[in-house]
Amino acid sequence: MAKIVIIGGGFGGVYVAKGLARTQYDITLIAETDSFVFSPLLHEVASGVLDPKAIQVPLKTLLPKRYHFHKAKVTAITFKQKTVTAGKKIPYDILVLAPGARAKAKGSTLKTLDDALAIRHMMTKLPKKAHIGIVGGGPTGVELIGELAKRHQCTLFQGSDVILPAASASFRKRVEQILAQKGVHIMTNARINHNGKGYVQLDGGHKVDLDYLIWCIGVQPTRIKTDKDIYNEKNAIIVDKYLHVNSMDNVYALGDAAATSAPMLAQAAEQQAACVVKSIRGKPTAFSFVNRGFLLSVGQHMGVGQVGPFVFTGFSAWWLKRTVYLFKIVDLLPKCRLAAEYTKKLLVPQQSL
Ligand SMILES: Cc1cc2nc3c(=O)[nH]c(=O)nc-3n(C[C@H](O)[C@H](O)[C@H](O)COP(=O)(O)OP(=O)(O)OC[C@H]3O[C@@H](n4cnc5c(N)ncnc54)[C@H](O)[C@@H]3O)c2cc1C
Repeated sequence: MAKIVIIGGGFGGVYVAKGLARTQYDITLIAETDSFVFSPLLHEVASGVLDPKAIQVPLKTLLPKRYHFHKAKVTAITFKQKTVTAGKKIPYDILVLAPGARAKAKGSTLKTLDDALAIRHMMTKLPKKAHIGIVGGGPTGVELIGELAKRHQCTLFQGSDVILPAASASFRKRVEQILAQKGVHIMTNARINHNGKGYVQLDGGHKVDLDYLIWCIGVQPTRIKTDKDIYNEKNAIIVDKYLHVNSMDNVYALGDAAATSAPMLAQAAEQQAACVVKSIRGKPTAFSFVNRGFLLSVGQHMGVGQVGPFVFTGFSAWWLKRTVYLFKIVDLLPKCRLAAEYTKKLLVPQQSL
């Protein structure tokens, strides 16, 4: 029986694994951590609104029973010998690379569940009106500051002249209005050149006093040592339109680790996974990203959404984001747990940290 090895237990790896459930392949999924984590809701764990258990699913319970799960870090891939090194050497016939990305910043950041828990812990130690700075006005920085602004004085530092540069002007305007209502101070063209004790200094010399600084300046693809050069200058794996790596038709890459024109989003990883599954099942399909809309929560019960040209704001956008992710959770038991958690949160006003 042909062996498929999937590296990564995030959106890309898990959706490929689930898509191959009805095939006869011998499938092994390797991941550094033993849980699938729902990153789009990490900011709600960081603010103390959601229980960490609500957004993580043990990979073992999520994968079909006949699959092999190996918790280990993949340290090398030898394409010539068709092996992956993850503590031991694991042979493959077909290899799927979905190792995602890592935070660019050092220090306090929001990429993993551990990061979210570290922020959550810090929030319990800070006084109520402490001044928190978030660097990076992309979706992660905006969602996090939207959560933290309820109890803290918050400043959002954005290096360029607008926050959410990839969003439409009307979407951005709505988000700015909500953040202003929450008392968030947005500083654009504000690049931090020195992070001192209790303050930051911006290009130009301006100093801002802060109690806590969180970096949300984006991610870079995870790089694994290989015997062929498969990476571009940004460390992303170069793929063709079928997501094949380096003209090897038995090796695929997808998700945040792959260099495609799609944004680094869960919905892109999911769509790419569908392509990889079709290809493995003998119906190669070229990948093209379909934008299914964008939903951003900006604090509890408040969100902004865009579907096509339509921008909508308020409880409906926030609720839709939660509901979309609720239905995305692939395993029944955690789905029930999350549903219960959400229903409780919807009915009982929450107190974030
Ligand atoms: C805070 C935050 C909020 C986000 N919000 C949204 C949102 O609202 N909507 C949206 O669409 N997207 C959102 N995203 C982006 C989305 O989470 C990613 O695009 C998506 O997770 C990419 O899937 P992936 O499978 O490529 O990587 P990941 O989901 O990151 O999974 C990578 C997997 O690879 C494993 N791995 C890494 N290196 C190794 C190794 N060497 N050996 C073994 N295993 C390894 C990891 O343990 C993990 O299991 C958000 C991301 C973050 C961080």
